[in-house]
Amino acid sequence: MQGAKPITKTVPFTKARIEELEKRYPTPFHIYDEEAIRAGARRLYKAFSWVTDTEGKKGGFTNFFAVKALPNPSILRILHEEGMGADCSSLPELLLADAAGIKGEEIMFTSNDTPADEFALARKMGAVINLDDITHIGFLEKAAGIPRLICFRYNPGEEYSHGNAIIGNPAEAKYGLTHDQILKAYTIARKKGAQRFGLHAMIVSNQRDEDILVEAARLLFNLAVEIKEKTGIRVEFINLGGGIGIPYSPVDHQVDLERYARGVHKAYKEIIAKNGLAPMRIVMESGRAVTGPYGYLVSRVRHVARKHRDYVGLDACMANLMRPALYGAYHHITVLGKEKKPLDHVYDVTGSLCENNDKFAVQRFLPAMSPGDLVVIHDTGAHGHAMGFNYNGKLRSAEFLMQKGGTFRLIRRAETANDYFATLDFEGSDFSGLARK
Ligand SMILES: *Cc1c(COP(=O)(O)O)cnc(C)c1O
Repeated sequence: MQGAKPITKTVPFTKARIEELEKRYPTPFHIYDEEAIRAGARRLYKAFSWVTDTEGKKGGFTNFFAVKALPNPSILRILHEEGMGADCSSLPELLLADAAGIKGEEIMFTSNDTPADEFALARKMGAVINLDDITHIGFLEKAAGIPRLICFRYNPGEEYSHGNAIIGNPAEAKYGLTHDQILKAYTIARKKGAQRFGLHAMIVSNQRDEDILVEAARLLFNLAVEIKEKTGIRVEFINLGGGIGIPYSPVDHQVDLERYARGVHKAYKEIIAKNGLAPMRIVMESGRAVTGPYGYLVSRVRHVARKHRDYVGLDACMANLMRPALYGAYHHITVLGKEKKPLDHVYDVTGSLCENNDKFAVQRFLPAMSPGDLVVIHDTGAHGHAMGFNYNGKLRSAEFLMQKGGTFRLIRRAETANDYFATLDFEGSDFSGLARK
């Protein structure tokens, strides 16, 4: 954080390339930059290259990519090639990981309110099961048996008081075991046959302050020491969860991964090593930071309207990106071909939902806008397409991978009206007739 410079928002493709792509595929669509994703993954692994495996050999670090952030098997395969596993929390996410060739202990199953059949599948796949509640030990035992390796999710409650710096307040969060429960849970699991153990917590979200990220790691390291002292159980890995933030706004600074990793290393030496718990693996479940900055939502301006405010209406809507409407999140907007124009107009940039919060930007300074302008919304690579919904009959867009050399590969086609109607049970149920005429 200290001394970090604000970032510049650039687009890795030209207007001409988009216009070419548009001849076959109408906007809106998301584009993910493969090379940038790979480079980011390598930076993360390099920063944590000091992490050893349980035998003390280098290369013990794993990021289990949070599948929910960008649930596309083409992306999962790329991340797997870069050494990542998958963090899954539902049956379809387990299936996606499997389809991408991610197997066994490369999968972390961090779920909550979990149904029995999902535990059964996770167990069958040999995934690392991360339990969210003390009663889930008995539930898992019945559903699938207790595996040799088991992990527990910790919720520090009032003990962790970072106010607004975290995902709400842990004491109000539905996740994880309390301090007393987690100590009991390891002992119960061991009695039921578990022999290998992990410890997990996710207590930060979109956090860009390295010191707060390090503090979350420290909290887990201290707990691992206490678990060893009170139960005799030595956890073999600590899972730091997700939550590394990204600079959505150009005035935000970027997380300094090296500084973060150095801080975790220092805490590891001071707490884990000093208490004789090394070597211990450090893993995480980062989603947002892995793909978020490398995704772009491309959309055309349909209408420009002057009312009590000036509005730019796009062909994209909340179906394609919900974060601004849902959280008031800032997403930077570039108008292709107008990068050099002065930002001397103020607009609300909207979608077409019959919902007034369907806005990508509120009172944003932009160049003078016209129908037909090509707009790029930045940082849509995580929790973007994935969050989309079909409210108001809006269809989700295509996804493209921008490969080395700038070629675009379709990795998910756009939804059609028939996809939207596919689950209806209604007479002949072909609704496409009218549209075809
Ligand atoms: C959402 C989530 C993640 C990923 O969080 P990011 O903010 O995308 O890094 C990781 N682990 C769990 C348990 C989550 O719910």
